[in-house]
Amino acid sequence: MPKKKINHSFIEQKEFRVFNPETIKQTVEIAVKPKPSIEELTTIEKTGKKPKKVKITKRTKSESKIKSGRGSYILIITEKPQAAAKIAAALSGGEDRRMPGGRGVYYYELERNNKKIVVACAVGHLFSVSQTKKTSGYPVFDIGWKPNFEVRKRDFTKNYYSAIQRLVKNASEIIVATDFDIEGEVIGYNIVRFIANREDARRMKFSSLTVDELQNSYDNSLPTIEWGQAIAGETRHFLDWLYGINLSRALMHAISSTGKFKIMSIGRVQGPALYLIVEKEKQIQAFKPTPYWQIFLLVNDGKNKLEVKYIKDITKKQELDKFKDLKNKKAVAETTKYKQTITPPAPFDLTTLQTEAYKFHSITPSNTLRVAQNLYLSGLISYPRTSSQKIPEAMQPKQILKQLSKSHSNLTKHATRNKPIEGSKSDPAHPAIIPTGIHQALSGDDEKVYNLIVKRFISCFCDNAELENKKVEVTINNLRFNARGMEILNAGWMNVYPAKMEEKEIKDMNGEVTIEKINIVEKQTQPPNRYSPASIIKELEKRNLGTKATRASIIETLYNRNYVKSKSIQATELGIRLIDSLEKHSPIIIDEKLTRNFEKDMESIRASKKDLNKKQEVVIKKAEEKLTKISSDFKKQEKEIGKELNDANQAIFEQEKQDNNLHIKCPQCEKGEITIKYTPRFKSYFLACTNYPNCKQTFPLPSQSLIKKTDKICEYCKWPLLLRIKQAKRPWIFCPNPKCESKKELGINGETKEN
Ligand SMILES: [Zn+2]
Ligand SMILES: [Zn+2]
Repeated sequence: MPKKKINHSFIEQKEFRVFNPETIKQTVEIAVKPKPSIEELTTIEKTGKKPKKVKITKRTKSESKIKSGRGSYILIITEKPQAAAKIAAALSGGEDRRMPGGRGVYYYELERNNKKIVVACAVGHLFSVSQTKKTSGYPVFDIGWKPNFEVRKRDFTKNYYSAIQRLVKNASEIIVATDFDIEGEVIGYNIVRFIANREDARRMKFSSLTVDELQNSYDNSLPTIEWGQAIAGETRHFLDWLYGINLSRALMHAISSTGKFKIMSIGRVQGPALYLIVEKEKQIQAFKPTPYWQIFLLVNDGKNKLEVKYIKDITKKQELDKFKDLKNKKAVAETTKYKQTITPPAPFDLTTLQTEAYKFHSITPSNTLRVAQNLYLSGLISYPRTSSQKIPEAMQPKQILKQLSKSHSNLTKHATRNKPIEGSKSDPAHPAIIPTGIHQALSGDDEKVYNLIVKRFISCFCDNAELENKKVEVTINNLRFNARGMEILNAGWMNVYPAKMEEKEIKDMNGEVTIEKINIVEKQTQPPNRYSPASIIKELEKRNLGTKATRASIIETLYNRNYVKSKSIQATELGIRLIDSLEKHSPIIIDEKLTRNFEKDMESIRASKKDLNKKQEVVIKKAEEKLTKISSDFKKQEKEIGKELNDANQAIFEQEKQDNNLHIKCPQCEKGEITIKYTPRFKSYFLACTNYPNCKQTFPLPSQSLIKKTDKICEYCKWPLLLRIKQAKRPWIFCPNPKCESKKELGINGETKEN
């Protein structure tokens, strides 16, 4: 098994200075798992029993370096508190004891096969990558792991760190039971080496938090951690951190060379992702619509009438002449039919789940992942960060189907296959996203996403759908027109899973028909569509940029940095100018091929069994070379880049000022205009005069929400209506005018529901 060589400086160097604020603000593209809230991380669903007090074996100082084999229990370490509760309950048959581990942290004690087991938990990452020596220049390459609480003051993970630190001392053996993927492996690996000071640990591998699977994965735990995953994950952290800090510093140094200050950054995968969006925006801006024509005939066979369409679109106006004299002429119709079989869609991998949840329920990909993660932790579905479309026998799909028949009999009654169908994509660590069969009442997005997963799973057991397609073709003077119809003969899986298939009935037509009417419709070619939150994720996957677990958060970051906006993703002026500047001065940053090669490198580390550290060094070295090049590009042209970025920031600032102005004359000074302002101190928006603070006119706005101007006007007072966006609430449109007539009629704050 590999021994680490990279400078994990935190072990060697116990003393660190406080991070300077500049570097703390650097956004590093590490959110391989979207940053969960503290609440999400630490809430445990009721375990059904109260913690009992049990005396913990007293530790003495001499025991602190206890070696394997000398301890009194097996210590299992999970990724999150919820998982610890589930694992403890599963391994003990519900006889576990919840123990206080200090400062709101709990762990569990239990016995299995006459062995004492302690289950403790991390709370996501307990360690962060950071710079070993404090500097402010760039490029910087000296990095290592440090406990979170040394990097960020008052970090809540410290209590979990301390609890594990106490518990490892008397552990005879450690079993890592974090999520089985590269992030989970890094979380476990860091605890094993840095807190427990051990070289390796056993590993539980599971794909869902069900009793059977957890017991099985404990009884058959792997002898070592998954080294490929651990080193690949660590490499990703190093790479993203190196990119994050160096690119941010390069951008900020450029800006400050012009005497201004503005935080800007771009990540390793965000560069190429933003480039794609900007390219699309430029295509749209450069697009010139051209006219084209569609030609429809209304034909009559003596019994029925039917509208048929010319098989091509006409782009040259003079070609329309061919159709001029067709009215009242005879044409020949012919009907052909063919059957079509559509197999059920493959089981869900993450990207497909995200795409479908967006299509059917408008749930964004990042929210879908968040919801799926909760469903997994509640034991309702298998692990969601998967690219697999397989349902292995070991998951006992038939048994799951049987269990689902208790709660979803109206769906399971359509299941006819003995084995579920599978798709082509696979994943080395996990099966497709499927329900576990356990049922629990849900609501909101949880319910929507869960039901989608259940339906998709059940539909894999259903018959193919059988369709009959019909085409009526009408020919005259070698010009071909047609109309299409479709009938569903056997809905099969479509009884279970929503399919956007519309039946369309048309009558058969054969032989001579009369042309009763010609209809020429002029149309304009349309610009390409912008990406939606779902289609951009698909596009990134197609181009092998980012990973299934990171794509949603990469896009979210682009929004947060003001590089993109709107639901149909539009590059902002800032985004466009940033890409222009980078393309001109340091195109490596947005080089899609380089990013993709890094993904391949990390995938090959993950899949390999030996020379892991050497492979890691090669990748890091390559990144260092690229970053050295980028740094020298930037330093050479610092002033010019700085000016471009400043102009871009200024442009977006002006734009925002314009966007926020309601263009309503201030009632107090009668000179300024009412505009939306933000107070960082109270983290909320309010309305104020543009002459604020000289003019004191202000109006309150709903607190703790994002407020945006809409293009709608209040029909009562003609003020622009505002949009309130608040987490976990539906968006609301309201009139901000406190004196508006609508308030009296509508009652509650004059708010109207957005349609
Ligand atoms: Zn005023
Ligand atoms: Zn109004």
